[in-house]
Amino acid sequence: MCGIVGYIGAKNCVHILIDGLKKLEYRGYDSAGIGIINDNYCDVIKTKGKVSDLEKMLTGKNFTAGLGIGHTRWATHGEPNMVNAHPHLNKERNLFLVHNGIIENYSSLKKGLQKEGYNFLSETDTEVLVNLIDRYLKKKHNLGTAVRYALNEVEGTYGIAVIYKNEPDKIIVARKGSPLVLGVGVNENFIASDVNALISHTSQVVYLEDNEILEIYSDHFVAKNISDKEIIKEIHEVDIAIDEISKGGYAHFMLKEIMEQPESIYNSMRGRLLPEEGTSKLGGLQGFEDRIAHSDRILISACGTSWHAGLVGEYMLEQYAGIPVEVEYASEFRYRHPVINSNDTVIFISQSGETADTLASLREAKKKGALCLGICNVVGSSIARESDTGVYIHAGPEIGVASTKAFTSQLVVLALITMLISREKRLSVTDGQYLINEMKKLPRNVEKILKMNDTIEKIADKYVNAKNFLYLGRGYNFPVALEGALKLKEISYIHAEGYPAAEMKHGPIALIDENMPVVFIATKDSVYDKVMSNIEEVRARKGKIIAIANEADDQIDKIVDHAIKIPQTADMLTPILSVIPLQLLAYHIAVKKGLNVDQPRNLAKSVTVE
Ligand code: GLU
Repeated sequence: MCGIVGYIGAKNCVHILIDGLKKLEYRGYDSAGIGIINDNYCDVIKTKGKVSDLEKMLTGKNFTAGLGIGHTRWATHGEPNMVNAHPHLNKERNLFLVHNGIIENYSSLKKGLQKEGYNFLSETDTEVLVNLIDRYLKKKHNLGTAVRYALNEVEGTYGIAVIYKNEPDKIIVARKGSPLVLGVGVNENFIASDVNALISHTSQVVYLEDNEILEIYSDHFVAKNISDKEIIKEIHEVDIAIDEISKGGYAHFMLKEIMEQPESIYNSMRGRLLPEEGTSKLGGLQGFEDRIAHSDRILISACGTSWHAGLVGEYMLEQYAGIPVEVEYASEFRYRHPVINSNDTVIFISQSGETADTLASLREAKKKGALCLGICNVVGSSIARESDTGVYIHAGPEIGVASTKAFTSQLVVLALITMLISREKRLSVTDGQYLINEMKKLPRNVEKILKMNDTIEKIADKYVNAKNFLYLGRGYNFPVALEGALKLKEISYIHAEGYPAAEMKHGPIALIDENMPVVFIATKDSVYDKVMSNIEEVRARKGKIIAIANEADDQIDKIVDHAIKIPQTADMLTPILSVIPLQLLAYHIAVKKGLNVDQPRNLAKSVTVE
């Protein structure tokens, strides 16, 4: 969840660490710290709050050091305060460690260390690790061996970086479950938990795999596995433009990412449409098409917004491919002993490709022999690497914690997969050609919706003080209702729930009175008339109705308080359009409440703990 950075070389690392932490801050943000070592001194500077607070503590201090590590924390054990912030250090204050993840057996390890005389200052699980390494250093092992011995005692997940004043020529990093990347420079090296924090320095990167330990010097590195066997690591060239991760003139990353959707949607389908044949081509799935098309079942495993994309995928695949589909929360899937057969395909959806629960469910499905297909945004991420086959969504870096453009791109990719495997099933050439035509129109149609930003802002104005919201939709728009409610909850902290519109009468209707805003997604699809009846039911109880409807629908204005009109498209593609006003509505309500939409409280972008 958190961010890790590190530097070794001839430059002063302090600014490099702070800049890197700023780029990672969106991932988790309750505290931050750095640990630095040079010939004469070593120090740890850390604080509760944001990286800018840490930066303030450093002003006027003129620290210079060629070796350092830094961290932004997303607390799992112990409240976000200065003492619990990373780096953690030993009693002599010469061994520093940052950690991303959870040490599950920390409490028994802690008891053992306490018996040996170790005192603990923080409530974190992480402090156990630094003291465990210290214990092996005191037994005269070098840092590399001490880290390895300590990690062999640890259960749980980690990405760690360690530096030691008595061996100032190296950073040791290790990974199990939490991402880490080495950035290779010329006579200098960088580390980070996300490649975005490295790309302003180098495009040459080495991805750590689980159970690998790297000893990083300024001019070379040595890679070993946890059993001390040397391994060869490949250096990859990454291709991300630096301006892709700046706000580009927008007030927030979230708004920028909403506004980027005409382009990101286009990028997700670029070069992948075969208009003549009425289908798609996906290089990443080459050689696997038949196996997927002839699966007995398709399972989709994901969390949060990606899980909502999975629900839309279920509707698409069942409609056109005629294969039974089940959508699972990855966190449940991984532990409930699911029945998975070798003739099943399991699709894993994760923007970051590092979502801990989704990654674990992938490993579980792999063990059971299913074909594992990853849909990720971050190139080279763990899920992308470990899947048998997969498709990148190519949405570009998504920084805002509340996912927007990744969701619409996930839907585009699910539509492409559906077309690819459905042509020999329920999808005729003409239907396929119609879908492709509608897909091509998506960027332009999204642009049209984005032009309604001001209108949506005005609607938002009226509901800033609402305490609750209901979101209702049917068919393809049911997952959109869930996603709209989630967006609002995530960034505005207003309680919101999404339901299939017909479920309203089985409970939620009791909540409706003149103070309850109800958002209906009521596009002209096969269930439009049914949704209209549900709207009437809310109206009869004086609920305030915001409807997402089609441009040609002039009936709906008479029965709702606000109608946001979007272009009509194929039913299967409707969610790609209908979700956009809901993203904007949530965004404006949160901004009007004075909240930090890019870094909502308690949330982190890449959920690398379970
Ligand atoms: N479990 C550690 C802690 O609570 C690390 C959390 C993180 O990944 O930021 O300090």
